[in-house]
Amino acid sequence: MTLKTPKITIAVDGFSSTGKSTVAKRLAKELGYIYVDTGAMYRAVTVYAMQHDLINKTDFDKDLLVNSLDNIELEFIYNKKLGFAEIYLNGKNIEKKIRSLEVSNFVSPVATVSEVRRFLVDKQRLMGLNKGVVMDGRDIGSVVFPDAEVKIFLTANAKIRAERRLLELKEKGFEGNFDEILQNVMDRDHIDSTRADSPLIKVDDAVEIDASYINKEEQFQEVLSIVQKVLNE
Ligand code: C5P
Repeated sequence: MTLKTPKITIAVDGFSSTGKSTVAKRLAKELGYIYVDTGAMYRAVTVYAMQHDLINKTDFDKDLLVNSLDNIELEFIYNKKLGFAEIYLNGKNIEKKIRSLEVSNFVSPVATVSEVRRFLVDKQRLMGLNKGVVMDGRDIGSVVFPDAEVKIFLTANAKIRAERRLLELKEKGFEGNFDEILQNVMDRDHIDSTRADSPLIKVDDAVEIDASYINKEEQFQEVLSIVQKVLNE
């Protein structure tokens, strides 16, 4: 790769807790690209809905959320110490808050709302306008950037994902219960894959990687070699 190598768009899609963000973040660093965590954007809208009592265990006021979208300002601000951009909702850093199991439990219903998706997809397209972006999510290769030069689709066994998620939550200082996390992973798989608007699918030109029995390093090297092949073409 030389400095003259044209920048490309890299879409990393897949199920929850398959290591998408770890691999995408490292890839962006390696290539000097922008990294965009679109899950964080859906989580941020969910935090807004929770703060304004628009969603709880029994009710979800979709209409009021849709009418409130203009009041939601999202920003990614780079944290030099952490080495990645943190998400801000209306000027407040909510990076830690969005990772809680409570937000994980409400985010998939919020992400089924077409108006929410359109609101966020517009922002995602703007962020990737000049290419040189690694974006992870559920619909990046299918909807946000269907012309992305590299499309990765990550899968892994649900129990293994729940174990990894539990470890990650504990590292971030949250309490966690394996059964609850496994239930959340399976519920989100179901909602994300069966929703009417932009369901999680593997598009034909995506390369599928099963991350069940490979470690983070092997997963990264596999993705990197796919990217390098495209960059060298
Ligand atoms: O990637 P993460 O697990 O943080 O995503 C949280 C949730 O946000 C997903 O389970 C999904 O419901 C939603 N999402 C989405 N489309 C994206 C990214 C995330 O629907 N591009």
